[in-house]
Amino acid sequence: MVGTVGFESAMSVKWNGNMKEVGEELNPTSKVHEEEEKKEFVTGKLNAHVIRCLSITEPNVDDEITGDKDAYMTDVLAQYQKNLVERTSNQLGYPVNHDYDYGALGQFQQFSINNLGDPFMDSTYGVHSRQFEIGVLDWFARLWEIERDEYWGYVTNCGTEGNLHGILVGREVFPNGILYASEDSHYSVFRAARMYRMDCVKVRTLLSGQIDCADFKSHLLANKGRPAIVNVNIGTTVKGAVDDLDLVIRTLEECGLSGDKFYIHCDGALFGLMIPFVDCAPKVSFKKPIGSFSVSGHKFVGCPMPCGVQITRMKHINALSSNVDYIATRDATIMGSRNGHSPIFMWYTLNKKGYKGFDKEVQRCLKNAHYLKDRLREAGISAMLNELSTTVVFERPRDEEFVRRWQLVCLRNMSHIVVMPNVTIDRLDGFVKELTEKRSTWYQDQRVQPPCLAADIGKGNCTCALCN
Ligand SMILES: *Cc1c(COP(=O)(O)O)cnc(C)c1O
Repeated sequence: MVGTVGFESAMSVKWNGNMKEVGEELNPTSKVHEEEEKKEFVTGKLNAHVIRCLSITEPNVDDEITGDKDAYMTDVLAQYQKNLVERTSNQLGYPVNHDYDYGALGQFQQFSINNLGDPFMDSTYGVHSRQFEIGVLDWFARLWEIERDEYWGYVTNCGTEGNLHGILVGREVFPNGILYASEDSHYSVFRAARMYRMDCVKVRTLLSGQIDCADFKSHLLANKGRPAIVNVNIGTTVKGAVDDLDLVIRTLEECGLSGDKFYIHCDGALFGLMIPFVDCAPKVSFKKPIGSFSVSGHKFVGCPMPCGVQITRMKHINALSSNVDYIATRDATIMGSRNGHSPIFMWYTLNKKGYKGFDKEVQRCLKNAHYLKDRLREAGISAMLNELSTTVVFERPRDEEFVRRWQLVCLRNMSHIVVMPNVTIDRLDGFVKELTEKRSTWYQDQRVQPPCLAADIGKGNCTCALCN
């Protein structure tokens, strides 16, 4: 995806390029992937030609009389608005729920709302939205089954911050622990390992994208005697795979690590809000021995600004708190100032939809994801959909223009669509129709064949000439 913004894997390499992977020697298998990723390394500067710069210019002395600058700025903003409408309507690759109306919250734009520090402690800065924030936290605590007086949490700036926090709590609980995460984990998990200088083991994944617990077991046995901090994916970024939490716990116990020798962080950025509503999905809850659970607020929840929720156990958080007299609050969060608007947006949408509303949306998305996978397979296109997921993985489109138009994320021979509540059957039909038409031109010459996805999603899901 050279030349496109926001490719997650490419960004992770930025860090790999400058820093030695901690604990590399613990895990020889991680080498392969890093080298592969390096090839796709792009710096921000190379992308500069795609992004037009809107320069900031000094006001002219007569601006107020002529009104030229105001007119110019109004024009820029109007064009930007048009562009956003168009770009939003063709967005299928990123798990962003565009289905919302926050008109009622416009009145808060003029306030500098800041929830700096701990949400449960008063701050001398009075322009905050803690009352909304705690309402949101309680809602998620109930969803993930932890009592009000047993949890601690906060509204974060994104899913990444949730991971950074969860893993930090794990390390504070087990300073000598090793971080285990599957190779399909989000790059923020490995970033956390580097930031905190933790030994980190990349565990292999199955074709589905789930953590391979046989490989996990062999690593645990090789590191006997050291506590384990485990990142469990509740929906991986690329394949939407939900790691088998019960099997992870059983594997830990089989390797002699009892409940007081491991810490599990659940990365539910994508699927943490959906999983409780998926029938037959294994339960992910604080009734099981997990230490923390996080979700992104701008993905399925549907907030317009990046945000997220992180919940952990009260007993763990005391290890992390330190006194910061300056703001007169205890601070166990990662950032200092925190967005005070996002908890209001979350509070608004959670109130409007409720558990029932999200349940309905999840069912619809699951159904539409199956619909998309079936249409792709009917059209002879390689595709896979994990049982508990709404992420449809399919053959990487040959044409970069097409990829940009639909804002697809690509990795190796794969691309994906994450079916969100705003993604309608009509939109999916339009996409499949366009892809089918384009493919017939890309592959009309027999010498160029569609890519083989056997290594990515298995022979059974691949429709290439070799696999059939
Ligand atoms: C998106 C994602 C993240 C990161 O969340 P942000 O809110 O983008 O920081 C982490 N983990 C997974 C599995 C994700 O899909």
